[in-house]
Amino acid sequence: MVRTRFAPSPTGYLHIGGLRTALYAYLFAKKHGGKFILRIEDTDQTREVAGAVDVIISALDKAGMKYDEGPLVGGDYGPYIQSERKQIYLDYAQKLIESGDAYYCFCTKERLTEMHEHGATKYDKHCLRLSKAEIAERIARGEPYVIRQNIPESGSSTYHDEVFGDITVEFKDLEDNILIKSDGMPTYNFANVIDDHLMRVSHCIRGVEYLMSTPKYNLLYDALGWERPVYVHLQPIMRDATHKLSKRDGDAGFEDFLAKGFLPHAIVNYIALLGWNPKDNNEKLSMQELVDKFSIEGLQKSSSIFDETKMRWLNSLYIKELSQAEFHAAAAPFYDKYCGGLNIDYEYLSELLQPRVEILSDINERTAFLTAFDGDAQKPFDFSLFVNKKWKTDEAMAKSLIDDCIAATNAPDLNAALDALAEARGLKKGQVLWIYRIALTGAAATPGGGAEMVKLFGKAEALKRLEKVKSAL
Ligand code: GLU
Repeated sequence: MVRTRFAPSPTGYLHIGGLRTALYAYLFAKKHGGKFILRIEDTDQTREVAGAVDVIISALDKAGMKYDEGPLVGGDYGPYIQSERKQIYLDYAQKLIESGDAYYCFCTKERLTEMHEHGATKYDKHCLRLSKAEIAERIARGEPYVIRQNIPESGSSTYHDEVFGDITVEFKDLEDNILIKSDGMPTYNFANVIDDHLMRVSHCIRGVEYLMSTPKYNLLYDALGWERPVYVHLQPIMRDATHKLSKRDGDAGFEDFLAKGFLPHAIVNYIALLGWNPKDNNEKLSMQELVDKFSIEGLQKSSSIFDETKMRWLNSLYIKELSQAEFHAAAAPFYDKYCGGLNIDYEYLSELLQPRVEILSDINERTAFLTAFDGDAQKPFDFSLFVNKKWKTDEAMAKSLIDDCIAATNAPDLNAALDALAEARGLKKGQVLWIYRIALTGAAATPGGGAEMVKLFGKAEALKRLEKVKSAL
């Protein structure tokens, strides 16, 4: 049975790198008919952020990754929040102490600092030599302690990673890490092993930062007589060749991209390809297609550079596929933000904009025309817009046509009226259309021609605008 897990620390933020780790774990589990587990790694109480678990759960939900076991839904191997598993870790730490694979350490911060100042690069196993009696006495006295892993001083360990191949680490390069902190909480270095085993995780899919520490975890698996999971370490997502995409970039969060108007699945689709090669040319893939095609063999050994332009392109394909009602619902918050409260037909605006935006925040730029001209003295009409080199139009032509433009707007068939107007004046239809659209909007670019603008504004507003231009011409 394939069982994978996503094990985020609740920081109140879900980096898209984290979301991608979750995605690969999800895809792999689903592909093999297995289970995808959510485990919250909240043992660093100093980093506790209120509501952070909800942020993760809601992000997975929006991304379409339903977890089979975890907080809220439960499961056979819970609790799935590490702070609720404190006693479990303490019990296993005791076992390791008994077998000599771990030991109490009473060293103070001062001693450790001094040790490092004297050139030590790792803990010197000072407390490993304490007698049982001394340990018992110091604990009884209430002296603070941690529990450290006892790593062999010589030898080496090799393990296999599915992406990076065989990894060998010399024990002398490893430190006797803390397993249990002085507050009684486990470190990641300990809890990940205990939980991956107890939660029957078959494949441990996580960031490459844990690649070189894994031999330490393997020693713990061995000491407890447990089978190791299959390891799959993932390269990070980069901002450029040398920098990881980080929270400091301000927009590396899943929610940040949603706020910019990317659709959840477009993000998921894009990040799936950032580090995994589906080995065919089709890059637009539904969740089911991702599940079907996913394979660990397709994971890249090299890191990948985040390309927002490409994600925008992918997003535009998904935007075009939305039904009108879906697009309108998705666009509504962006209308509120950028062009709310105008007397226009917003549903029709959605029809005009859907083929013209790549991400929903493009609505800001695409709707600037709505307020380019409102008869407001603060924003004088830009008459130079009547000048169009291609059509050979100008302000004088606008002046000579404006009454007829008003009449055409009142006609039962606007298009036919504009045709007739061009014919009567010996002008090209394009000339009339240019003048008409500019007179209505005062904007060079609009998502549609004059007739669409009349439909959008309504006839009364269109006439009001034309009259205002007339009086100024
Ligand atoms: N809690 C770890 C982190 O957020 C998870 C590492 C793992 O997947 O094992 O980095």
